[in-house]
Amino acid sequence: MSLFRTAFDPILSVILPEQCRVCFARECDIAGGVVCAECWQKAQLFTKDTPLCPKCGAVLMTALRSDSATCNACDKMAFDRAFACGMYEGAISASVLALKKQPVIARHLKDAIRDALARNPFVKADFIVPVPLSKKRMFERGFNQAEKIAEVVSRLLELPINNSLLQRTIHTPLHRARMDLRARELSVEKAFSVANADLVGNKRILLVDDVFTSGATVNSCSTVLKKNGASFVTVFTIARAVQGRY
Ligand SMILES: [Zn+2]
Ligand SMILES: [Zn+2]
Repeated sequence: MSLFRTAFDPILSVILPEQCRVCFARECDIAGGVVCAECWQKAQLFTKDTPLCPKCGAVLMTALRSDSATCNACDKMAFDRAFACGMYEGAISASVLALKKQPVIARHLKDAIRDALARNPFVKADFIVPVPLSKKRMFERGFNQAEKIAEVVSRLLELPINNSLLQRTIHTPLHRARMDLRARELSVEKAFSVANADLVGNKRILLVDDVFTSGATVNSCSTVLKKNGASFVTVFTIARAVQGRY
């Protein structure tokens, strides 16, 4: 086989190093997944010093009045706590987007998950529930990225996962680009149901998803979990979208 042929072999090309999805200049780092080491260095991961809303985990631009205050935007949210690894930008957003295509969580992302869990005492739960995909989306993708994140969280916290407790009802054709934020919130409001209410009563649940954008999806899941008797719902996502900034 000539060198030319090898270089263009589609099977061999998948094992050759890929270009970084952030800078498009360097090759990906094995530990970084689809991102190079330099771009991971610049990932906007939250630390214990990042000013975050204590309830919803939004990045705060101004200091809160007191330790018990929230950002106010989350006052009506049904969950008790929400937190994320970092901002939905750069290395973090590239890794989250890649996770929708390939169910692989690279080491840097696993480390970020471990650090975020270690910083947050309210991760104590009876079990983990990943946000489900619709049957249609699950069929198209072949896996649920929230389940892949939940598997990492499960190993780190030694907690069981319940993949079938929350169910997503068929999503409507309205659920598309032209909808404004409120319309999108309304469309997910009744999108979830609980398969077995007996498993939820008085339980502390750790709800896991990839990105917290408006919070509408996790709020809808939390509402149905609380209605079925959950005592405490904590939301963990890899990323917090910029939209959640105050
Ligand atoms: Zn890069
Ligand atoms: Zn908040």
